[in-house]
Amino acid sequence: MDRRAALVTGGSRGIGRGICLELGKLGYGVVVNYATRSDAADEVVAKIIGSGGQAVAVKGDVRSPDDRAGLVRAALDTFGRLDVLVNNAGISSVGRKDILEATEESWDAVFNTNLKGPFFLTQAVAHTMIDLIDRGAMPGGKIINISSISSHTISVNRADYCMSKAGVSMMTRLFAQRLADNGISVFEIAPGVIASDMTASVKEKYDQLIADGLWPIRRWGQPEDIGRAVAAIVSDYFPFSTGECINVDGGFHIRTL
Ligand code: NAP
Repeated sequence: MDRRAALVTGGSRGIGRGICLELGKLGYGVVVNYATRSDAADEVVAKIIGSGGQAVAVKGDVRSPDDRAGLVRAALDTFGRLDVLVNNAGISSVGRKDILEATEESWDAVFNTNLKGPFFLTQAVAHTMIDLIDRGAMPGGKIINISSISSHTISVNRADYCMSKAGVSMMTRLFAQRLADNGISVFEIAPGVIASDMTASVKEKYDQLIADGLWPIRRWGQPEDIGRAVAAIVSDYFPFSTGECINVDGGFHIRTL
């Protein structure tokens, strides 16, 4: 019960993996959630345990109510508490179709994974955190939502993705207001373009755009960049903040003239 515990959805690869490793370094017991890639999740768990931490891989689809309940149960069964939730799992627009050709299939897949799943997982985790805090089992809670620069920047070939991420921004402020009195703070991290499987297919396009100065810090973002932002939040370096969005995008959000 002394070890703080964190649940990271989509912790098996990319940004989620980077977040899990940073939380492991801080001594958190980490629930490394994955949807299908048990091999990748096991590798993350092995890395955390190999450097003296504790972690467990748990399969679960954030779109499924039963699986969401299973994730919360796994955290409690393994670590006896749940201090941190990171809503990271997400998918891009299926087929990246122009807005005039966009499909309901992509809409449903993207919204269920990127917004509905995280909303109801947050609701379930909030109930659990409130109970733990009220019983004195832990001092407070943190919920961190991984949105995107797409929450404020349009791509007409990924409308559903952009709209789901704009929803994640609003969700952050809603839960921040509701949970402040319970000792739970809620943050949004808006990553820029980060090197992961999600962006592998557009690597050459962004190599060129980055070289041309699309954002001020001319390099790819790395999963570790997001992991370190999460580490700062869970280390309580923002004790008088909630509902805050932290841009980790190399400065992309700065408007220039
Ligand atoms: P990624 O490399 O494609 O990894 C996606 C992760 O999500 C994997 O761990 C995957 O699990 C998991 N996942 C997918 N669907 C799931 C579901 N239904 N239930 C549970 N887990 C699921 O993606 P990423 O680039 O790391 O992106 C992570 C998050 O950051 C997403 O929310 C994304 O929108 C956001 N983001 C990414 C970028 C970027 O440039 N990469 C920029 C801004 C925001 P499996 O390994 O089992 O498949």
